[in-house]
Amino acid sequence: MSTYTPMMQQYLKIKADYKDSFLFFRLGDFYEMFFDDALKAAQELEITLTARDGGGDKIPMCGVPYHSSENYIKQLVEKGYKIAVCEQVEDPKQAKGVVKREVVQLITPGTVMEGSMLEEKENNFLAAVSLLEDHSFGLSYADLTTGETSASYIGRDFHSLIGELYHQPVKEIVMSREIPENVQKEAREKLDCTVSFEEETHIPADSHHLVNKLSEELTPVFGRLYNYISRTQKRAMSHLQPVQYIEIKDYMRLDMYSKRNLELTETLMKKGKKGSLLSVIDSTVTAMGARLLKKWIDRPLLDESLIQKRQEIVQGFMDNFLYRDAFREDLTSVYDLERLAGRVAFGNINAKDMLQLKRSLQKVPSILTSLSTLDVSVIQTFVQRMDPMEELAQLLENSVHEDAKLTIREGNIIKSGYSESLDEYRDAQINGKKWIADLEKREKELTGIRSLKIKYNKVFGYFIEVTRANLTHVPERYERKQTLANAERFITPELKEKETTILQAEEKSIELEYELFLEIRELVKGYVNKIQQLAKDISELDVLQGFSYAAEMNGYERPSFSSERTVHLVNSRHPVVEKVMEDEFVPNDIYMDESTNIFLITGPNMSGKSTYMRQMALTSVLAQIGSFVPCEEAVLPVFDQIFTRIGAADDLISGQSTFMVEMLEANNAITHATNRSMILFDEIGRGTSTYDGMALAQSIVEYIHENIKAKTLFSTHYHELTTLESELGSLKNVHVRAEEVDGKVVFLHQVKEGAADKSYGIHVAELAELPSEVITRAERLLEEFESQDTQETQLSLFHPEPETPRKQGDERESEVRKELSRMELMEMTPMEAMNALYRLQKMV
Ligand code: ADP
Repeated sequence: MSTYTPMMQQYLKIKADYKDSFLFFRLGDFYEMFFDDALKAAQELEITLTARDGGGDKIPMCGVPYHSSENYIKQLVEKGYKIAVCEQVEDPKQAKGVVKREVVQLITPGTVMEGSMLEEKENNFLAAVSLLEDHSFGLSYADLTTGETSASYIGRDFHSLIGELYHQPVKEIVMSREIPENVQKEAREKLDCTVSFEEETHIPADSHHLVNKLSEELTPVFGRLYNYISRTQKRAMSHLQPVQYIEIKDYMRLDMYSKRNLELTETLMKKGKKGSLLSVIDSTVTAMGARLLKKWIDRPLLDESLIQKRQEIVQGFMDNFLYRDAFREDLTSVYDLERLAGRVAFGNINAKDMLQLKRSLQKVPSILTSLSTLDVSVIQTFVQRMDPMEELAQLLENSVHEDAKLTIREGNIIKSGYSESLDEYRDAQINGKKWIADLEKREKELTGIRSLKIKYNKVFGYFIEVTRANLTHVPERYERKQTLANAERFITPELKEKETTILQAEEKSIELEYELFLEIRELVKGYVNKIQQLAKDISELDVLQGFSYAAEMNGYERPSFSSERTVHLVNSRHPVVEKVMEDEFVPNDIYMDESTNIFLITGPNMSGKSTYMRQMALTSVLAQIGSFVPCEEAVLPVFDQIFTRIGAADDLISGQSTFMVEMLEANNAITHATNRSMILFDEIGRGTSTYDGMALAQSIVEYIHENIKAKTLFSTHYHELTTLESELGSLKNVHVRAEEVDGKVVFLHQVKEGAADKSYGIHVAELAELPSEVITRAERLLEEFESQDTQETQLSLFHPEPETPRKQGDERESEVRKELSRMELMEMTPMEAMNALYRLQKMV
């Protein structure tokens, strides 16, 4: 250490506290990085790597200019890195020895505040996890840009924790180092987020109001979050709102698989919003409304009365769509109040923010007028609560200049008429400038030099400029100041005297404007809570007007709820597929009375089985967030959970075999589902050999039928399973059939009662005009297989075959050998190879 120069020693000392971050070390007009930081930054940012003498060997170094640093910081944050911004905290001219430096802010993916690093329509969540005293996990969220915070209990099961985090995606998770390694690892890999550490969980007395409503046990997890935020931001956290306790049990549970498979907020393949349920239902006008809608889709409600309340508002907007449209129009001029409130409290709003706030507030009276005409009591509750803050709007109207500058230290922010002293300074400047114009005129006349000019620059202030040709006419009283190639510059005592007055007035007015600006900023700060409340109300109403708008555009109806576990959907459609299809979408009914729990769905590929299944799930999610649904008539139970096993293209990515994923998801459903849940199983058992698969499929159906009784849609290509209908009382066969029309196969996409025709494949072959010999032979074989099926392979219901005694080691080994040598490796896809390996492993 001592071989380094004093500045490098200072660097290393600071860096030691920020090992997991890039240290942006301020040196004059640059932020410099050294050692490994420099090597890594040069690579990540594609900037030039240099070296510097620092005592001893040359030190790798690279830097970014202070003025363009935001862009570089953004790039690093987006890649999940953290940046410690280290500034010079004393005037270099006054410093004795090395200038004092300190880290003034730690910028991390979960704590960015700058506009350009944020997604407008998404929250920027930071989460903290704690292992609580009873060994369950506690989870807490904060969005610094809006100030919202929450906390919830997650059970002891670490998969629930990961599932929950997947539910509401975060950029960064704060943990204790005591959290098991595997959780840290999963968080990084599965959730693709930055993991940070904070051990302090104590909440200082001045912030206790935040946790008033939170149980003692949960405060440490919020404490961890709180301390991490104050450590990174290094300023008062006055804009954090009191922690909202979220009871996970109050919301419909959708595990990670289901949420992905159903493509609620993003599609599987492209990871984009387009094509998701969110995209078809989102008719919000404001960014805060869009963020709230996403949260609602992530957490459908279970409490019917809360759902009804939302529906009533949607209905109100439907019945008075003209006022709704006026409301929508007004909303277009409302800015992101939620984030504005965040910045106000954070203390970094500029004049532009103030103008946005003002314009938004000025819209509120008109919004209230539209809303008060709606004769719906729940809407009137909002109207009574929404405060237009007229005095604040008026203050901003009177004070902030319409085209104020973004920088707050250069004047031109405050309107005239707001402050008498400011107006006086401004008058002095204006009068002074007018006096100078008059002087120019007078001097021209006195000297007879028509090209004489009075100019200004920063070095000499005001001066008189005379061209070389006219120098002979310059009077004695002019004092020469500077000679140029073809002109000379002069000053006079009276000019200098006036100059002092003008410049002083200018300086004072800028100074005063700055003070006034800070004063206004403090005044606005006093309204933070009110602005936050207004933002909440506006975003909620925005989502609900959006529901009514989407319902109108897409032809949705208001669902009602059954306590009898009845599903009654008349002419139901798939909300996303119907939007993207070129042809007409064929509506289908879904009727499941109290005594019907399972639909066993058969039918050829591409006929519409999985669309039918998904549409029931999506309809329920829409219903439980308060939206109307794509049906002509809808009665649904309130589902507590939805489980899905639907073949998904991204199974390959996870590195597990399709079959293993299938079994994991099936297990998850079977372990957690209740008779108030919905289960969608699409072709379960497909990933393994026929009999293996069929056996599993059947025993899973039986298990659901006997033990779980959840409303279940089970599609299968094992035709044999359709005989279960006669054995299992609450199972019904339905099928999607294709028809022959004018000699062509047409998928009608109609779901009908009963099992699909088994010889369907042979019909298709016939239509394709395969030789009649082939067709006849196929029909014969089919008959044969069928008779064998019933004799030998059909699996007896509820009477499991006695287990075959386990084979001896040698025998098993030789079978594995045989199987292995039979494999055509070059013919296999990686997935097939995976599955084969899985089979082999099971044999040993
Ligand atoms: P399966 O699960 O039986 O293989 P899908 O549900 O994937 O079939 O449907 C295949 C395609 O058929 C869908 O992509 C869609 O274009 C179309 N389709 C499905 N259901 C309908 C319907 N009810 N009306 C119109 N087209 C449909």
